[in-house]
Amino acid sequence: MSILKVARMGHPVLRERARRVEPTEIKSPAFQKLVDDMIETMREYDGIGLAAPQVHEKIRLAIIGIEDGEGRERHIRVLPVINPELTPIGRDTAEDWEGCLSLPNLRGRVVRPDRVQLRALDRRGNRIELDLEGYTARVAQHEIDHLDGVLFIDRMKSLETLTFMDEFAKHWAHQDD
Ligand code: ZN
Repeated sequence: MSILKVARMGHPVLRERARRVEPTEIKSPAFQKLVDDMIETMREYDGIGLAAPQVHEKIRLAIIGIEDGEGRERHIRVLPVINPELTPIGRDTAEDWEGCLSLPNLRGRVVRPDRVQLRALDRRGNRIELDLEGYTARVAQHEIDHLDGVLFIDRMKSLETLTFMDEFAKHWAHQDD
């Protein structure tokens, strides 16, 4: 496995619409290696999600991190999704901080639907359908936005909360909604 180079804001690949993955591609060793490399890259940089365009691959593939456990037990489960589609469930929205490996050292508050239904193919090519809620729903929406060339800053109602990480740690990290 290898750690991939992450595109940063300003690289055109982050603004393009990614193409759908053909089901026949999924089982190829190259595709499976990309999935493994994306998982390793996400872990290396402490991300909670990673989309293929962030590693310069213009395909509809993303890794969604799902936080499990608390404190020392905390770990991130990874769910690779292919050709994902999201549908909001209900009308509830939530506002929370987001960051992005392509916008290093920045955080900003984004309002998004609080519950979504996710439909996709898994890395074996099987159909999956999941209802996601809270932070995991947010991660899924953030990653799938990348497949359409959308960054979290585009979703911010205003740039007033756009914050450097060290200022975030000083002023905002311990405030919970
Ligand atoms: Zn991102």
